[in-house]
Amino acid sequence: MANQPDSPKVLPIAGQPDLAREVFDRNLCAFCGACVGPCPHFIHVDGRVILRDRCVLDDGRCWSFCPMGGARGSFEEDLGPRLDVWVARAVKSEYRKKAQYGGVVSTLAALALKDGLVSEMVLTSGHPEDPPVGVRARTKTDVLASAGSRYAASAVVATLNQALAEPGGGPLGLVGTPCQIKAASAMRSASPAQVSFEPARIQLLIGLFCTWALDYRKLTRYLRTMLFGERAFGYDIPPPPANVFKVRTGDGIKAFPLDEIRPFRLNACGFCDDLTAARADVSVGSVEGLDGWNTVIIRTEAGRNLIERARERELLKVSPLPEADLDHLKEAAALKKERAALAWHVEG
Ligand SMILES: Cc1cc2nc3c(=O)[nH]c(=O)nc-3n(C[C@H](O)[C@H](O)[C@H](O)COP(=O)(O)OP(=O)(O)OC[C@H]3O[C@@H](n4cnc5c(N)ncnc54)[C@H](O)[C@@H]3O)c2cc1C
Repeated sequence: MANQPDSPKVLPIAGQPDLAREVFDRNLCAFCGACVGPCPHFIHVDGRVILRDRCVLDDGRCWSFCPMGGARGSFEEDLGPRLDVWVARAVKSEYRKKAQYGGVVSTLAALALKDGLVSEMVLTSGHPEDPPVGVRARTKTDVLASAGSRYAASAVVATLNQALAEPGGGPLGLVGTPCQIKAASAMRSASPAQVSFEPARIQLLIGLFCTWALDYRKLTRYLRTMLFGERAFGYDIPPPPANVFKVRTGDGIKAFPLDEIRPFRLNACGFCDDLTAARADVSVGSVEGLDGWNTVIIRTEAGRNLIERARERELLKVSPLPEADLDHLKEAAALKKERAALAWHVEG
């Protein structure tokens, strides 16, 4: 079952009034940044997307590309379309050292740049204590500087908007969580006649598994108190059953109960039904019980092409994901879908 590149879609007639009513007024913004850039009424400040002013346009693109609005649609199947599922990790230690887990995402991003499949990779970067920022990586050095997970929500799609707004630019790739990938995927399948950018420039979507992202301000406030002024250099949420949020400090690793961190997740994440970024070309997450490795779901021919290039160059070590792990991943994905369905039901 392959994720076929979507044929161009005619965008619905809906705009900011719909987005304001359906998303902002209900505190359902995922802070992905899809609405930031094309319209002056949306801005990204201090880790949040703010709706500054109302407009009455009923065919704005802000609704069409919002993962909690027009781009919300989901796949029936728990893990979404897939061609292959692997366990993998980077062969080169320079990637593994900087990466969150196995360094597959950074390896693939750097390879896509090196082989000219894309001219820029839109990534998330920033010091863990600051709000995550979208960056446009052009070299391996840029990619390595963005390696690792910032668990606060990133408005990386605003950076994609910025790149797309520059005429004559080359093909682009984006690494993102499921909401960011939903937005970018809706943009790439938009009918060119209806938008002011070239959808075909979006060539590569690398998705990250994601259960939830955190509100940067709430997380920072909590850590400032709990770390007694110690600086945080990196975070990790190891797979279950660990149930902890780990913070790397100058004084070693501190672990906090996940139950204390969970209240800082975005409200929108409780409504998201996509654990594995089903609309990506290739999706990457952790592997339960196997530290330093990634689960990799290949979804499209573009995703397969990139993975095959990496294997041929011996940049990735791969093997099939054991059936038991696949079943477990499916269960986790189904659970996220159920929670989201319930949340929407209660919201009405
Ligand atoms: C908010 C969040 C929640 C996650 N939840 C889960 C989960 O529940 N289960 C699971 O298996 N995996 C989860 N992941 C994915 C996991 O943390 C790793 O990113 C993934 O396994 C890839 O590992 P890697 O070593 O290949 O990544 P690396 O090679 O280190 O590359 C990581 C990439 O992530 C990007 N990135 C960093 N922070 C963000 C962000 N806030 N938003 C968008 N992109 C970002 C960077 O651009 C970088 O390119 C989550 C990631 C994030 C950002």
